[in-house]
Amino acid sequence: MNDIIALTAAELAAKLSAGEISSVEATRAHLDRIAQVDGELHAFLATDEQASLAAAAAIDARRAAGESLGELAGVPLAIKDVLVTTDMPATSGSKILEGYRSPFDATAVAKARAAGLVNIGKTNMDEFAMGSSTENSAYGPTRNQWDASRVPGGSGGGSAVAVGAFEAPLALGSDTGGSIRQPAALTGTVGAKPTYGGVSRYGAIALASSLDQIGPCARTVLDTALLHDVIAGHDRHDSTSLDFAWPSMAAAARGGADPASLAGLKVGVVKQLTQGGVQPGVQARFDEALALLVAQGAEVVEIDAPHFEYAVAAYYLILPSEASSNLAKYDSVRFGLRVTPEGGGTVESVMSATREEGLGAEVKRRIILGTYALSAGYYDAYYGSAQKVRTLIQRDFAAAFDQVDVIASPTAPTTAWTLGAHSGDPMQDYLNDATTIPANLAGIPGLSLPIGTASEDGLPVGLQLMAPAFEDARLYRAGAAIERLIADRDGAPFWAQAPALTGKAGE
Ligand code: GLN
Repeated sequence: MNDIIALTAAELAAKLSAGEISSVEATRAHLDRIAQVDGELHAFLATDEQASLAAAAAIDARRAAGESLGELAGVPLAIKDVLVTTDMPATSGSKILEGYRSPFDATAVAKARAAGLVNIGKTNMDEFAMGSSTENSAYGPTRNQWDASRVPGGSGGGSAVAVGAFEAPLALGSDTGGSIRQPAALTGTVGAKPTYGGVSRYGAIALASSLDQIGPCARTVLDTALLHDVIAGHDRHDSTSLDFAWPSMAAAARGGADPASLAGLKVGVVKQLTQGGVQPGVQARFDEALALLVAQGAEVVEIDAPHFEYAVAAYYLILPSEASSNLAKYDSVRFGLRVTPEGGGTVESVMSATREEGLGAEVKRRIILGTYALSAGYYDAYYGSAQKVRTLIQRDFAAAFDQVDVIASPTAPTTAWTLGAHSGDPMQDYLNDATTIPANLAGIPGLSLPIGTASEDGLPVGLQLMAPAFEDARLYRAGAAIERLIADRDGAPFWAQAPALTGKAGE
């Protein structure tokens, strides 16, 4: 494997700023890697060599002219197709938006460009970010770089595999119920869901607006933190974005690199998140990670969160309700696809034919569920009750954080499953999100990092850390410390153990 693509984003950035590598070389190396492995993995929906190389050359020219550039200037960035960009299409994984080009950049993308990051391509995802395996993409699934017969998780399987398979050092994702954290766990990479409002959602194709959050993906905790710092902050285009002076996540990650920083940390383990349904190899790795924390002087406290049991049910009422409203704009008039029935048709029949052809089964299922839950006769019974449960879950978290600094859980109850294994049974996908959904319902931040592989299948296991709103930095500090402990235990950083390095996924 080419040396450039094996560098972490932090290492690559240092070499770029020292003039040892140009951004054109770094971009070329990653485009070559995409050409080499993406036929099999399908992490990308769109790339544009010319556009990426031109952006890289522009950064090199600015550096040569002595301009002072951001820390990550010249580093390639993969972008989930849920974010609109002016230089490449944005489909959100749906046929209804095939070929759609935005006249503006999403704010997270604009911030990344302003920091000198180079867009290397748009990544695959479940249609409109509805799914846990990337199999709901209208453009075909992404495959897990650890084992191409397995799913990479979802909905952001493309971004997770892009970083995991060394096609990009950094990627952007979106997390509505776990779509950054769960794919990170299933692919052995790192991903963070910021505090709700921590990153602007402007230009993110909306799924469920009260849950959606844009966030960073990478192979290391520090790289994830560096990208988080670039995209965070208030945006006048998103009234829910927080006007808050965020501390540097990268500084927190660097501070955490000494595991002694874990001494005295109170770590909550929620009974309801580890009870039943957790694969034995996942549970074993989780217990081992807790033991490593305790050995450093952290204290583990058992937490009771009685309403977490209802989180998945509440989520699958709130999400479809908001989605049915957000997706009403794909009406054959304003965006993308238009299908005219044979012999012409009325406005209604064109709309109906377009949505019939342009939307996949999972999207239709959720639109039907959402419109039903919001209908006059059922609103109180379904949507109203779900909102009450949401409040109770927020209170469970508040009570927990009175006792502990962070909450830890397995990121997902299982490792990656075989493609097609859940087909025809969406409940199996929904239940895989039981551990990640509570953070979205409460608006709090979460981070997933790899802690080893499960003994029964040799596939990656993720640890999820959660903190109170605004305390994202706490996750990076603790996450970096745990990452170091795992690397010391294994004798190598987790990403260096990935089969993409040793050859399985297409060397
Ligand atoms: N898997 C979850 C769902 O299908 C999460 C989606 C997401 O975070 N975008 O809704």
